[in-house]
Amino acid sequence: MRRLLIIGNWKLNGNKNTITNLIITLVNTFNNISKCSVAIAPPVMYLDIINRYLLNSHIQLCAQNVDIHLSGAFTGDISAEMLQDLNVRYTLIGHSERRIHHKENDVYIAKKFFILKKVGLIPILCIGENKKEYDSGYTQSVCINQINTIIKLLGIEAFKNAVIAYEPIWAIGSGVSASPENVQLVHKSIRDYIASYDASIADKITIQYGGSVTPENVTQFFDQKDIDGVLVGAASLNANSFSMIVQTAEKHKKSYPT
Ligand code: PEP
Repeated sequence: MRRLLIIGNWKLNGNKNTITNLIITLVNTFNNISKCSVAIAPPVMYLDIINRYLLNSHIQLCAQNVDIHLSGAFTGDISAEMLQDLNVRYTLIGHSERRIHHKENDVYIAKKFFILKKVGLIPILCIGENKKEYDSGYTQSVCINQINTIIKLLGIEAFKNAVIAYEPIWAIGSGVSASPENVQLVHKSIRDYIASYDASIADKITIQYGGSVTPENVTQFFDQKDIDGVLVGAASLNANSFSMIVQTAEKHKKSYPT
């Protein structure tokens, strides 16, 4: 049984004052949340501060990035064990902003996937096509290729207790989300592809959608059979918007299986 998973990605935003106010509001608002899972991905600088507010709350911690090494002479990097030390549960890898601005490729992302699994953290593997690939009808092949690199290097077992976030690059931060029906088709193709290796892993894996999700459009995504949650950027920086998205998940019929 898959639970809806809502993650707020705060990216490179906020300061001590604003993130403290935001997390206090969210912790209070989500006091009664129990049917869906919620995590926040603050800038790494603030993981420790946020962590202190999350004790006894339903919100979990997500990191925005991790290094491929556990320790050593790697100035400026953050290891999976350090994240674990701060109670981090999930870590984003393969986000298009890192693929684009830091030239991270699928093989490098697979190394991050490996190190997270080794330490026991849950990778959230972000995948998705750019506008040109979308217009050319390559969406599904781009996504399958990105997943395939992980399967080839780490085996299908790596996807046990992992999350995939399908994020069309053209939909991120653009205000134009993908259509829920198209997202459903992509998610189904991903699940079917994983099922061709292992049906049980495919059935259990959480596949989120990300790209201009708002309180207004989120229900239509939850209504699709293979959409198991959302990765939210801009709307997660606003306490009201993010709360409405989480409340929608909590009340959705998927959270009350018959
Ligand atoms: C993201 O950065 O992962 C994202 C989905 O951003 P936004 O919701 O702002 O499109």
